[in-house]
Amino acid sequence: MDLYEYQAKEMFAAYGVPTQSGIVAVDPAAARCAAEDIGGTVVVKAQVKTSGRGKAGGVKLAADPVEAQAHAEAILGLDIKGHIVRKVLITGASDIAEEYYVSFLLDRANRNFLAMASVEGGMDIEEVAETKPEALAKVAIDPIDGVDRAKADEIVAIAKFPTDVADQVAEVLVSLWATFVGEDASLVEVNPLVKTPVGDIVALDGKVTLDDNAEFRHPLHAELTDIHATDELEVVATAKGLNYVKLQGEVGIIGNGAGLVMSTLDVVAYAGEEFGGIRPANFLDIGGGASAQVMADGLEIVLGDPEVKAVFVNVFGGITSCDAVANGIVGALRMLAERDEEPTKPLVVRLDGNNAAEGRQILDDAAHDLIEIVDTMDDAARRVAQLAAQGA
Ligand code: GDP
Ligand code: MN
Repeated sequence: MDLYEYQAKEMFAAYGVPTQSGIVAVDPAAARCAAEDIGGTVVVKAQVKTSGRGKAGGVKLAADPVEAQAHAEAILGLDIKGHIVRKVLITGASDIAEEYYVSFLLDRANRNFLAMASVEGGMDIEEVAETKPEALAKVAIDPIDGVDRAKADEIVAIAKFPTDVADQVAEVLVSLWATFVGEDASLVEVNPLVKTPVGDIVALDGKVTLDDNAEFRHPLHAELTDIHATDELEVVATAKGLNYVKLQGEVGIIGNGAGLVMSTLDVVAYAGEEFGGIRPANFLDIGGGASAQVMADGLEIVLGDPEVKAVFVNVFGGITSCDAVANGIVGALRMLAERDEEPTKPLVVRLDGNNAAEGRQILDDAAHDLIEIVDTMDDAARRVAQLAAQGA
């Protein structure tokens, strides 16, 4: 889960990373009140989970509350790289003498953690990384040793921070590492970390990505989830413990096992080309125990997507045998019918593996109008794409 800037900076503050506090506003009038409370020159900043807000006109200085209101008016509703701005952060403006960059992240390629730091921070760190790689220091961090003051001093030296800020930046790095470990983040980034004209060091921007797999250790992280930034069906699926991701397409996908579901997305997208670009509408892995309840939950979510025109249930029987899955499908359809949510969209089912013949027999016996059994994955993908094209 990525955090908004204001959430990231609140987290930083809790770990002692110097940053300015701010007020979040969802309409221009509230932005004006916030600017009045803060006083002086403020910055109005779009809160969207993407970078490059400055360049997109999403970060503006306001000399007084009236100007803050006008900026909020212009920024709210703005589309920044496909993210609509629904909140702005109002903070006191800092004067900037220099802009730096610091971050800690999970370095997947090297199976390690990595510190990155540069005295050429600001808006274009990606460009710095590309055109002047020597200006971006990269220091591997041993996960056991972490970042103590000595390691922080080493990063500061390698990145060639000026001596007058070296101590402060090293302290920031130690606190930032504490945030990274304490919150189970896979990224913490400050760009820019600024030096003010009087020599203070302040984090003006913040980016945090939390490791969702560590959520059980952080009950408070659930409060950081922004329901509005999450698809409604994804919220329902999460509540039911299903692994669902909404995509843009017409074929609902239900499968068991992440690998099988991913390859199902591929074959459906491939088969769909022939039918005018039919695409998978979602990723849904129902996992090992495909009981009638799990299948009903899955079908309910997939069929709840109005874009879905046909559903592909692709199951390879392993630990869960195909007859159990077939019973699950039949039971799910009955359950939905009893709830007056009788499905009307065609279901293409492919069963293979453990007890496939028994599973197909169960579906045959059920003789449900909507169910069509197809033996192979490729043929099933083709058929479901065709049905989706007809229904679209
Ligand atoms: P980003 O473009 O999405 O990374 O948004 P940032 O929060 O990094 O802001 C972009 C730029 O706006 C920064 O690099 C600064 O140059 C400028 N900026 C942000 N906050 C302030 C501030 O308090 N005072 C001044 N003078 N400039 C700021
Ligand atoms: Mn930034």
